Amino acid sequence: MAVHGNRTTRDEIRKPRSGWSVPPNLMDYDAERARFSWDRARRDLDGLPGGRGLNIAHEAVDRHAAGPLRDRIAIRWLGKDGAEQDLTYAQLRELTNRFANVLRSLGVGPGDRVYALMGRVPELYVAALGTLKNRGVFCPLFSAFGPEPIRARMSIGQAKVLITTPLLYQRKVAAIRDQLPDLQHVLLVGDGGGPAALADTGDYATLMASASPAFEIAPTDPEDPALLHFTSGTTGTPKGALHVHAAVVAHHITGKLALDLHADDVYWCTADPGWVTGTSYGIIAPLTNGVTMIVDEGDFDPARWYGILEKERVSVWYTAPTAIRMMMKAGAELARQHRFPALRFLASVGEPLNPEAVVWGQEAFGLPFHDNWWQTETGGIMIANYASMDIRPGSMGKPLPGIEAAIVRRTDGGGVDVVEQPDEEGELALRPGWPSMFRAYWNEPERYKKCFAGGWYLTGDLARREADGYFWFVGRADDVIKSSGHLIGPFEVESTLMEHPAVAEAAAIGKPDPVAMEVVKAFVALKSGYEPGEPLRRELLAFARTRLGAVVAPKEIDFLPTLPRTRSGKIMRRLLKARELGLPEGDTSTLEEMK
Ligand code: ATP
Ligand code: MG
Repeated sequence: MAVHGNRTTRDEIRKPRSGWSVPPNLMDYDAERARFSWDRARRDLDGLPGGRGLNIAHEAVDRHAAGPLRDRIAIRWLGKDGAEQDLTYAQLRELTNRFANVLRSLGVGPGDRVYALMGRVPELYVAALGTLKNRGVFCPLFSAFGPEPIRARMSIGQAKVLITTPLLYQRKVAAIRDQLPDLQHVLLVGDGGGPAALADTGDYATLMASASPAFEIAPTDPEDPALLHFTSGTTGTPKGALHVHAAVVAHHITGKLALDLHADDVYWCTADPGWVTGTSYGIIAPLTNGVTMIVDEGDFDPARWYGILEKERVSVWYTAPTAIRMMMKAGAELARQHRFPALRFLASVGEPLNPEAVVWGQEAFGLPFHDNWWQTETGGIMIANYASMDIRPGSMGKPLPGIEAAIVRRTDGGGVDVVEQPDEEGELALRPGWPSMFRAYWNEPERYKKCFAGGWYLTGDLARREADGYFWFVGRADDVIKSSGHLIGPFEVESTLMEHPAVAEAAAIGKPDPVAMEVVKAFVALKSGYEPGEPLRRELLAFARTRLGAVVAPKEIDFLPTLPRTRSGKIMRRLLKARELGLPEGDTSTLEEMK
C-alpha cells in the first residue's frame, strides 16, 4: 500500500555552529546520546537529605530554597486584572510546607488523591507542591470543566480532597457533592466564604495561617505515586495516567536539554496545569532547573501575550500550535509592534506544528518554533528539536538522549515488527523504562496492558523516521484516512491548506465513499479579512490539488468559524467526522466551548 506522510518543501533552518550568546545545554546531539544514562541524569538532582529517596517537591523547591537561589523569584504571577505577585524559592518553600501541614492535620496521608479545580492562581501551585511534599497524589482539573467531567474524573481517582474556590464550588461541585463518597475535605481559596453547612469544608487562608511553616518531607520512594493526569480526550474517553516521584528526573533533564533551561532564564509555559504540559513544564521542570517562571492567569489574547513576552523579558517560551495559529490569524504586524530582545528559545507541543507555523516564528519573533512531541502517558518530552540542532520545519525532531524510539507495525499474533527501513510509515513506539513513564491508567488495568507489545510501548500515533534520525508525525492511528489504496495523514493535508494565505487552521477527515473507501474532506477556518464562499472554496480545492495530487487532496471543503478543539487545544477530528456522518458525538467532556 502506498503511503503518504507529511513532507515539506521548506528548507532547513540552520543553527550556528559557534558564537552562541547562551551556549545550549545540549550542544552535540550524538555525543550527548552516547554518554547519556538515566543514572547520570538522576545525579543532576539532590535526592532527599540523608539518602531518604526522591521527592519532586524537594527537587523543585526545597533544595533551591536552601541554596544560592533562595531569594530568586520562582513564580511571577500575573493576575487577570493586572494584579501581580512574586514568590521566591524561600517563600515557596514556606507556603508549600504550610500546605503539607494542612493536609497532614486533616489526616490526609501518602497516596491520598488531592484534586485542584482552580484557575492559574498562586494557591494552585502551592497546593500541587505541598501535596507532593505530603506524598499525596496531585490531580489538577481544568477550572472550565463542567460538573459532569469533574464528577467523572473525581470518581475515577477517588478524590479525598478538593481545593477550589467558593464560586467554582457553588457552580460545579455542590450539585454533585453527594455523588463523591470518597471526598472528605473541600478547601476553599479566596473570598466568598464557603458553604458553611459542610462540616468538612475549610477555608484555605485560615488553615494556612495556623499551619506550621516547617515541614520535613518523609522518606519518599521514587516509585511512590505522585501525579494523576487525565489525557486530553481527543480520541475518546479520557484516561487517568499515574506518574511517580521518579518522573522528576525526566522532567528536569528534558527541561534542560529539550527546552534549554538555564537558571537565569525567565520562562513561560502557557499551558494550564489541567493538561499535563502545565504540570510537567508549567510547574516541575522550570523549578527543578531554578528558573523564574511566569504564571499568567489570563486567557489567550495575542496583544496580552506579546505584552507579557516583552515586559517580563521572557527568554524561553513553551506554547502550543493552536495558540500559534491564532497568533498567525491575528497577523505578524501585531507581534512586530513589540520588541523581544530577551527571547532566545521558542518551543511548541500538543499537536503537529505545521511548517508554516515554524517559519512564522521567524517572521514575528526572529526565532523559529521548536516542535516537540510527547503524551500524558510519557510524562515528559520524548522527541524534540534541540536548540543546537538544525530544524526541518514539520519534523518533531529526534528522540531525547536516553529514549529509544522506533517505527513498528503490529502483527496478527499480537506482537510488533520494527520497521528498519527509513521513511516508512508505521506506529511510533518507545522502549519502556524512562522515569516519567506512566505506571498505570488509574483503575483501568486492561486499557494499560493494551499499550504494550513485544517489549515496546505503543503510542497510537503514526510517524516515520528519516535515515538520519529525524521523526515526522503522520497522524493519530485513529485519524488516518484510507483512500483508493493510499494511507493519508491528515497533517499533510492540513499543513498544505495552511500555506494558502486565507487559511488560519484546517482539519482533514476521511469521509466514507463507495468507490475510494474514503475521500478526504477538509474543514477550514479563515483568517480575518477573508470571506467564505464558492470562489474561495474552488480556489482552495485547486490549490490543494496542485500541491498534493488528486489522491491526497481534499474532495470537499467546508468553512467553519473555528474548529472544535479540546481544552488543551487539540483539534477534535473525531467530532468533525461524527457530525459529518450524523453519528453520536461520543465523549465531549474536554471540548472547549467556543466564545
Ligand atoms: P486522548 O489520549 O485522550 O485521545 P490526547 O492523546 O490528545 O487525548 P494528550 O496526552 O494530551 O492526549 O496528547 C498527546 C497526543 O498529542 C500525542 O499522542 C499526539 O497525538 C499529539 N501530539 C503531541 N505533541 C505533538 C507533536 N509535536 N506533533 C504531533 N502530535 C503531537
Ligand atoms: Mg492519547
